[in-house]
Amino acid sequence: MDNPELLRNIKNETEQNKGDNRRSFLKKAAAATVTLAGADFITLAMDNSSDSGRQSGEIPWYRRITRWGQTNITEKDPSHYDIQWWRNHWKSTDTQGVIINAGGIVAYYPSKIPLHRQAQFLEGRDLFGDLCRAAHEENVAVFARMDSNRAHEEFYNAHPDWFAIDASGKPYKAGDMFITCINSPYYSEHIPSILTEVANLYHPEGFTDNSWSGLGRDTICYCENCKKSFRNKSGKEIPVVKNWDNAVFREWIIWNYNRRLEIWDLNNRVTKVAGGPDCIWSGMNSGSISGQSRSFRDFKKICGKAEIIMLDSQSRNDSGGFQQNADMGKLIHGLLGWEKLIPESMAMYQAGRPTFRLSSKPVPEAHMWMFEGIAGGIQPWWHYIGASHEDRRIYHTNGPVFQWHKENEEYLINRKPMATVGVVWSQQNTDFYGRDEPELMVDLPWRGIVQALIRARIPYLPVNADHIDREAGNLSLLILPNIGAMADDQVASVKRFVEKGGNLIATGESSLFNEWGDRRQDFALGDIFGTHIPETPEPNALPLRKWVNDTYHTYLRLTPELRIKVDGPQTGMEPQAKGERHQVLKGFDETDIISFGGMLEPLRTENGTEVLLTYIPSFPIYPPETSWMREPKTDIPGLILNTIPGGGRVAFMPADIDREYGRYNLPDHGNLLANLIRWTSNNNIHLAIEGSGLINCNLYHQPGRMILHLTNLTSAGTWRQPVDEFIPVGPFKVSIRLPGDVSGKDIKLLVSQLNTSGHIENGWIQFTINSISNHEVVVVS
Ligand SMILES: [Zn+2]
Repeated sequence: MDNPELLRNIKNETEQNKGDNRRSFLKKAAAATVTLAGADFITLAMDNSSDSGRQSGEIPWYRRITRWGQTNITEKDPSHYDIQWWRNHWKSTDTQGVIINAGGIVAYYPSKIPLHRQAQFLEGRDLFGDLCRAAHEENVAVFARMDSNRAHEEFYNAHPDWFAIDASGKPYKAGDMFITCINSPYYSEHIPSILTEVANLYHPEGFTDNSWSGLGRDTICYCENCKKSFRNKSGKEIPVVKNWDNAVFREWIIWNYNRRLEIWDLNNRVTKVAGGPDCIWSGMNSGSISGQSRSFRDFKKICGKAEIIMLDSQSRNDSGGFQQNADMGKLIHGLLGWEKLIPESMAMYQAGRPTFRLSSKPVPEAHMWMFEGIAGGIQPWWHYIGASHEDRRIYHTNGPVFQWHKENEEYLINRKPMATVGVVWSQQNTDFYGRDEPELMVDLPWRGIVQALIRARIPYLPVNADHIDREAGNLSLLILPNIGAMADDQVASVKRFVEKGGNLIATGESSLFNEWGDRRQDFALGDIFGTHIPETPEPNALPLRKWVNDTYHTYLRLTPELRIKVDGPQTGMEPQAKGERHQVLKGFDETDIISFGGMLEPLRTENGTEVLLTYIPSFPIYPPETSWMREPKTDIPGLILNTIPGGGRVAFMPADIDREYGRYNLPDHGNLLANLIRWTSNNNIHLAIEGSGLINCNLYHQPGRMILHLTNLTSAGTWRQPVDEFIPVGPFKVSIRLPGDVSGKDIKLLVSQLNTSGHIENGWIQFTINSISNHEVVVVS
């Protein structure tokens, strides 16, 4: 806490406010029961005499509330907010917790904090208080919502030194409002005083904040508070320009990350002092790692502190699709633990591309985002802007999903993923390798690998580069999708994994840079790849970053060529004997080349490696008369296989086919990646599904049973968003390898509400699903 006096005041105020409404909420919840996966019913007997409102060993509210709702209050709403209607809506949708606007930019209650401006149409009404009481009367928990990153002009005029300024001393503004500086007393005194006031007056269960992390990375604040703090931490001045190669700029990045973590801790201390040990503060986070990086939010460290992640990721974007929601759910659980919860704000209005705050989103589009979130372990949280709507269709969207969620909740939380493929990521890589091109350098390779896995129906798990040792025991294959920046200890974990028999695929420039993005002489994993940067590199060798923005008319040659089999005219290439191709090239018998799009430089490969693809350099596309290969064959490798004595299978793919696939979706690239993943994993994929369609498969384990989510992405994959009609797919023949504690006697389909039976052979169970409209969830026990 930055201000000991404030802390004492908060403590005193709290002491005076015992015996409160929150206590009565907890008392009413005393008889609540929850079902925990694989466990018996646990009764939440609340003890009113304990300070926290619960006894040790009982489940706190943030671990048991799984369906949330939010009416994001506009400043106009206080004049007509119909609380009774919304109470009914909470009930009819089985909503257990609500997020209610309290304060920050504007207050929705009569605040006594100086300069805490009232919402424009509040006119003395205590809207937050009325809503908070109504929720508690319904046994609905309350997350008081703050928005703390900007303020109006009168605030700026009173405390100009609390606001972010540019190098010339001009304040940063967003519209009419002024951006507050995260190193100023606005964050260390003003926001804590609001949190304390709200906790004392209304006793919400906890606090969240829509926009808590201050100015983003693309803007540097030069205010006196920042200058002084950075000088104290580093002994240096704040950098004048963005320069990723500059040590002071890098220090500035880390200093910014640390300040956001301090704010996280400070706000939690404040709310716990004011509201009791379970009165947590959990600022909202983004569903994109590059978004987190731009906001200086270190997802791994935040998850190390957080009891719950409030995920603000309301809808899909064109490039990521619905599947990005399941992907992000699994990624965050990997950091947070699978026993904790990740409610996600899901827009019921037309959000994303384009945004219309007051129009109802097409129901299939809204539902698919929810189903993919649930498949990734996310909990639903309906989200409206404004408290009344003329497009009344919006009120009917969430009900069916919430009802289904309530009926099947025991299968949807407290479970462990069963994937044997881990895809490695790190925020350091996004920052210091991605730099100003994280989409091209980091996100696209990730998306290509993940999309190839989804298309091949192979369950996978995102694995943080610092957690490789922890996860290694459950994985047979690790994939490094162009993880350029790797620290020495991360490299060492990958080596240990492979040396103990684990299998590895790495692409692009993986391990070629240290954790700061400084280029090494050679791949740090070069010995594992069996591939090295030549001792005398080409004088004009281009690093990937320089050409990543363009697409080139390049190809990859499959080796050996099977020219002799070609049924077609002479190619002018010298005929050669029929060669035996590697399994990885299965399905490509009728071609000796595939399109590429990137560029490659010579590499040195060790004896014993096998090169399956070689580079064909660029030649003209236009005019067509010029479109012939100038250099049909090189020995520049695009894909190298290696085996480590006593270790696993290794594939290194300098050709960034993953990035190309993420960008252009060419099936050759997807098929090649799928073949490569299957071969490298050495038959350690425990799920196989036959039948047409794009299906995202996520497999989980609870004691004695498995849960398989199958989300039908076929409809979404055929045209642009929003999806407005489901196209059913099926039948599917599903085969799953049974873990020791699952007999396979019972198979339940939770969406079509059918029971079926399977055929068990050699430890695998096989069964058929006739049709999937939007999603299906199968429980095998
Ligand atoms: Zn500042």
